[in-house]
Amino acid sequence: MKAIIKKFAEPGLVMEDWPMPSVGDRDVLIKVNKVSICGTDLNIYKWDPWARKNVPVPLVIGHEFVGTIVELGKAVKGLKIGERVTAEGHLVCGKCQNCLEEKRHLCVKTVGLGYHSQGCFAEYVVLPEENVFLLPASIPDEVAAIMDPLGNAMHTALSHNLTGEDVLITGAGPIGSMAAAIARKAGARYIVITDVKKERLDLALRMGATHAVDVSKTSIQKTVQELGLSSGFTVGMEMSGNAHAFSSLLESMRHGGHVALLGILPPNVGIDWDLVIFRMLTLKGIYGREIFSTWFKMIALLESGLEIAPIITHRFSFDEFEKGFEVMLSGNCGKVILSL
Ligand code: NAD
Ligand code: ZN
Repeated sequence: MKAIIKKFAEPGLVMEDWPMPSVGDRDVLIKVNKVSICGTDLNIYKWDPWARKNVPVPLVIGHEFVGTIVELGKAVKGLKIGERVTAEGHLVCGKCQNCLEEKRHLCVKTVGLGYHSQGCFAEYVVLPEENVFLLPASIPDEVAAIMDPLGNAMHTALSHNLTGEDVLITGAGPIGSMAAAIARKAGARYIVITDVKKERLDLALRMGATHAVDVSKTSIQKTVQELGLSSGFTVGMEMSGNAHAFSSLLESMRHGGHVALLGILPPNVGIDWDLVIFRMLTLKGIYGREIFSTWFKMIALLESGLEIAPIITHRFSFDEFEKGFEVMLSGNCGKVILSL
């Protein structure tokens, strides 16, 4: 089968023929119809320090997709050939205490599809049956292909009460912008989002942010003053992975505020603990999605009018994957979809 592969321990990716994955008794073989490029795929493309530490080569990469079931392992129940699906890309152990307590998103041995194990940037992907998510007809293919990052945004945003609250999101990448849309739908008052790229801030405003701050030109504090929010934000979401953004977010929080951290910060980023302690802030780390409660929340919000499609700005064929990665590298985009 055709696949996008991290072949060598160096920058770049190749498209090559790859052996069909084998289907175990409790596995599902899925024919992939569309994939979406994640920042993680870009890190693998660039071969950054995180990728060097985590990704074995050679490996089929990718974890965002929509597809159709074409084969079921002997022991699989409750799924049918021909059904349209996507999947939870965190493969959990099922045996640790958190898994046994039905808190699978907290599994201590999580394996990531497409960076620890064979991914979905291929004509076919195999997943354990318990990872497969059946799609209702209401969800268009392109939206289904980005449910993984939408789930990141949803899990982060819904970690804290947003109704009637003032929210600060640092980083207007696709996930930050989708979090702004969710905060809007959840009834937040001010949704201030920051970035250093105009295109991304413009997109965030279209998605639902009420105010966009280009921190390369002005400060969050100026917006805070204009809005009359002298005591700061009650909910903060760090979605840039940038150390300055993180410290400015902590400085902008109201006493007793809640902060959710999704962006992957560089190693050894310092924290002004005085801010955390004396403002009595609560910090929560986010990895992935809640399995599967975040997924059902996504369906419910999409079916009740959450508008996500505008985050998809570029579409290419699977064979043109290099063009997709170029656009992602430029940062002048939202989500990029490749169709098989
Ligand atoms: P992205 O890289 O597309 O977006 C990050 C944005 O932050 C970019 O638009 C960038 O211009 C902006 N930025 C850079 N410096 C900034 C600054 N000083 N202030 C404000 N913004 C700044 O990433 P994404 O796909 O939207 O994902 C967001 C973050 O979440 C990334 O760090 C990603 O690695 C991480 N992530 C984490 C998980 C998880 O499970 N924890 C899952 C997916 C992604
Ligand atoms: Zn586990």
